[in-house]
Amino acid sequence: MSQRYARRMPGPQRFEGPSDLHLHSVHSDGTESPAQVMAAAHRHGLRTVALTDHDTTSGWAEAAEAAASLGMTFIPGMELSARHEWRSVHVLAYLVDPDDDALRAMTDRIRSSRLDRARRMADRISRDYDLVWDDILAQTTDGATVGRPHIADALVARGLVRDRAEAFSSILSPGGDYYVALYAPDPVTAVGLVAGAGGVPIIAHPAARAGLLSMPLMERMLDAGLAGFELGHRENLASGIRSLRRLSEERDLIVTGSSDYHGLGKPNQPGEHTTDDAMVARIIEAATGSAPVYP
Ligand code: AMP
Ligand code: FE
Ligand code: FE
Ligand code: ZN
Repeated sequence: MSQRYARRMPGPQRFEGPSDLHLHSVHSDGTESPAQVMAAAHRHGLRTVALTDHDTTSGWAEAAEAAASLGMTFIPGMELSARHEWRSVHVLAYLVDPDDDALRAMTDRIRSSRLDRARRMADRISRDYDLVWDDILAQTTDGATVGRPHIADALVARGLVRDRAEAFSSILSPGGDYYVALYAPDPVTAVGLVAGAGGVPIIAHPAARAGLLSMPLMERMLDAGLAGFELGHRENLASGIRSLRRLSEERDLIVTGSSDYHGLGKPNQPGEHTTDDAMVARIIEAATGSAPVYP
């Protein structure tokens, strides 16, 4: 148990809804600082909020302090990158021990591969477009987990595309000439690392356009400690939600709903999907890696 995120006071503590458990800051590909993200969540009426930057926990301290000062409960989280064959899979990691050696080694490896990959994508893009590596650095906060969104922001700043969405559907598309894959563990390994760090692994946007993962892979993830699915997410499709809801009921899994707020980087707004109190309570009870920070 990491001391900094240990409970501040003994005895049972209560959180209050509404709860939004998936938001990003400039520590990855959001456009606001952790404190600004917490302020945005508060303006939208949220009472319990998680910060889930990609492959990093570096925003937790600032977010926890800001949340407390606004009277909100803070749930430390992360969105861990994974990959199954050609497709990316995102594993939300709630209440992990941020100092867990195996998890840290993995996030370090992913983050350094992301940096290398962004450079290689920049090299490819700069053959055809007026864009250099410094343009991307200029869009990236020091120490942040680098991703295609930062390249998108550089393309916008250069006037080459209108917004992130246009960049993703053109120059940054996985099918295009400029795309380079990043290193990420397979989903079973990712789930196991989160569970091993005392966290609660939940698959983010599991019914998005890429389609559901196969049942055999689901079974292997469940064996590795998968706790549930983020069914409330604007990118999930209705048919996939229906089958995962059935599976979640059969196996008594946790289901969440969240915004995936990225500041100005996406239209998603805090609180557009929320997680039921009973499910938040199950996440808190299941975790041993760290604890919520209560106001
Ligand atoms: P990467 O992990 O570097 O390949 O980039 C994927 C990230 O880009 C995801 O975490 C999304 O938040 C973001 N993203 C994907 N598609 C879009 C889009 N159309 N508009 C804005 N952001 C996007
Ligand atoms: Fe993102
Ligand atoms: Fe995601
Ligand atoms: Zn996300």
